[in-house]
Amino acid sequence: MMATATLYIISTPIGNLEDITYRAVRILGEVDLIAAEDTRHSLKLLNHFGISKPLTSYFDHNQQLKGERILNALRQGKSVALISDAGTPCVSDPGYQLVRDAVAENIPVVPVPGACAAITALTASGLPTDNFTFAGFPPSRQGKRRTFLSAINALPGTLVLYEAPHRLIDTLNDIREVLGERQVIVARELTKMYEEFIRGSVSEVVATVSQGIVRGEVVILIAPGEAAADEAEPLESVLQRLMADSTLSIKDIAKQAAVISGVSRSEAYAEALRLKNNS
Ligand code: SAM
Repeated sequence: MMATATLYIISTPIGNLEDITYRAVRILGEVDLIAAEDTRHSLKLLNHFGISKPLTSYFDHNQQLKGERILNALRQGKSVALISDAGTPCVSDPGYQLVRDAVAENIPVVPVPGACAAITALTASGLPTDNFTFAGFPPSRQGKRRTFLSAINALPGTLVLYEAPHRLIDTLNDIREVLGERQVIVARELTKMYEEFIRGSVSEVVATVSQGIVRGEVVILIAPGEAAADEAEPLESVLQRLMADSTLSIKDIAKQAAVISGVSRSEAYAEALRLKNNS
């Protein structure tokens, strides 16, 4: 049964219409009002599923005004669904401020999960998924973009970025410049007819995408780098892991740990001896 005075945050497909959930279709058909980023765009989706409900726009530049109207509808006991052009609202899309304001007024906010390009790309990337950072869109200006990339360089885990196709090559070149020659994946046109995963070192991927005009939507995934590996596993934990193998001598342990952690052999050896003596 439909709860009144509830804000539903509903994910819609990122390309393939089959990726909407049964629950999303049901709730969209039951709410009093649907707030959409682009009403004309969303009308096509709603028509496809035979949903006919009052629609209002809610996008970046009318958030304040429309947010207040949507809150008013909620205060009057109406149920409202928020959708964006594609994927999960609030993820590089409008919605966060509305959710924040609804929460502040104790209006129930119910997420209805579904497609999200970042997670879709990550799951098929083959890169580590236990720890990842979604950093959204890099700034469009090169100076700011490089500063942004430096700030995420040392983060452990996989990095996931959104990018516009016409900026893809510039951003990949900056990734090589700032983060080094890491493995990257460009996930293009996910769930659509021309879905494609371009994998390789940054230079290899730049060479591939430079062969033609990049079309469609893209997610960039970046493998954890050495700086990140150091952060993720400090010398002490590398040593402890290696010391668990009783077949290795302290000298061998120090040698391997120095390579993994990027420290000198003498530093690794001294630390290994300290740990051994303490154990
Ligand atoms: N809220 C959306 C989500 O949940 O993924 C993201 C909206 S954001 C404005 C749009 C960006 O998401 C695109 O520029 C692209 O980076 C990524 N994106 C969306 N759909 C995609 C798809 N089918 N394939 C690849 N990337 C996609």
